[in-house]
Amino acid sequence: PTMAHSKALLVLENFIGGKFVPCSSYIDSYNPSTGDVYCRVPDSGKEEVEAAVKAAKDAFPIWSSKSPLERSQILNKLADLIEHDLEAFAQAESKDQGKTITFARTVDIPRAVHNFRFFASSILHHVTECTEMPAMGCVHYTSRAPVGVAGLISPWNLPLYLLTWKIAPAIACGNTVVAKPSEMTSVTAWMMCKLLEKAGVPPGVVNVVFGTGAKAGEALVCHPDVPLLSFTGSTLTAQRITEKSAPHCKRLSLELGGKNPAIIFDDADLSQCIPTTVRSSFANQGEICLCTSRIFVQRGIYSEFLKRFVAEAKKWKTGNPSDPTIDVGALISKEHLEKVRNYVKKAQAEGARVLCGEGVDPLALPPGNQKGYFMLPTVIAEVKDESCCMQEEIFGPVTCVVAFDTEEEVIQRANGVKYGLAATVWSSNVGRVHRVAHMLQSGLVWTNCWLVRDLNLPFGGMKASGIGREGAKDSYEFFTEVKTITIKH
Ligand code: NAD
Repeated sequence: PTMAHSKALLVLENFIGGKFVPCSSYIDSYNPSTGDVYCRVPDSGKEEVEAAVKAAKDAFPIWSSKSPLERSQILNKLADLIEHDLEAFAQAESKDQGKTITFARTVDIPRAVHNFRFFASSILHHVTECTEMPAMGCVHYTSRAPVGVAGLISPWNLPLYLLTWKIAPAIACGNTVVAKPSEMTSVTAWMMCKLLEKAGVPPGVVNVVFGTGAKAGEALVCHPDVPLLSFTGSTLTAQRITEKSAPHCKRLSLELGGKNPAIIFDDADLSQCIPTTVRSSFANQGEICLCTSRIFVQRGIYSEFLKRFVAEAKKWKTGNPSDPTIDVGALISKEHLEKVRNYVKKAQAEGARVLCGEGVDPLALPPGNQKGYFMLPTVIAEVKDESCCMQEEIFGPVTCVVAFDTEEEVIQRANGVKYGLAATVWSSNVGRVHRVAHMLQSGLVWTNCWLVRDLNLPFGGMKASGIGREGAKDSYEFFTEVKTITIKH
């Protein structure tokens, strides 16, 4: 990029020790709905990570010795400040990520605000354990303390939402952090840094280094003074992080991909099930780890379901994300769009039927969005279970619908992938719902609904979908070190 060109661009800076610091080199960041470069993101490496870890280490003694109530008040203040700027954050998230302004306004930013309020509150309610051994004259109790500098690495699909889901519990527990958002969606994290001082977050408690996974991410993963890493992203990256952090025996929390099934029995209430399953397939362009991508429908209602499901999917409007009437925005990048399209091509080559969307229906885009990374919600039927479309995470607006006959059969087929993040079950038979929920290899099971979350309860995946859980108690346990103390009286 030329100097003249760069003038108009938004240029981000790292946030280290309470100060914005420029970087020696930068990465281009695209607006997915236009295909234009509009922002430059620091291309940080070892040096920047080193400075950030040092700032976090220096800030730890003071921050960790504050009372939970003091930290809680600061988190609440930060929540208020983000909420005050909600519209600006939502506009920025939509522009940076390609998601619709409606989704950013109603899901991403409100949830980021809630993450801070939630942990501001929950940190006040933990109690530790105590047992007595009268015969020995002993009392045992546990004490929990923050671990130190937490390394936080987040993906591009729900940028501020997922980053704050890590920052909030980490600092509520008294840790200091070095966070690295995805290089493709860094803007809202940078905007949040501008509010930290006003909220009362001391310098060095939250440091943000921007850059790629290979350079900035790996420097953080390998840093000897970062004893715990909380990562959300792909299974492949998690394997690399596990390998690279192994020499240091780091504590890891890994929230990874999914290949989430929806199981629809013939006694399901289709008037609820169909719009919810369209939403669970295509919300945020299908770029949510919890999105449904394999729909198993009991044979007796299969053709009716398919007809109604496709009709409902066709109602979803794809186009300019800043238009509030649009349901499907742009995918994150040109490469990702190509990858998602290739899955549809592969399915067709294998003999599956594409019922709507990619390659079947016309995609009409406004003049300003012709170069954006758009794709219509796509429904594929008659896909074999062993097809890559039924086995691999596509992470786009593509869902597969297949028929099944029995409960036993569908449980086996639903479990027949390497992932185990989320599943949905639709039936009005309570006994069956419980039976199936227990048999599914999945960290989360929603029955007759989707994405209804109580942040108090564990969130996370089985198998290749992750290690560890997040939630009020789970995040508290992850971000603190426990000690058992015995007193003889
Ligand atoms: P990704 O793994 O490519 O990147 C995630 C983050 O890791 C980014 O910040 C990236 O820069 C960084 N990174 C990449 N390589 C690294 C390395 N070698 N060392 C350290 N950091 C590295 O994932 P993505 O494409 O950004 O996100 C999509 C994936 O995230 C999907 O698989 C999706 O299912 C998953 N996801 C999971 C959850 C969950 O809670 N389980 C939530 C959202 C997304």
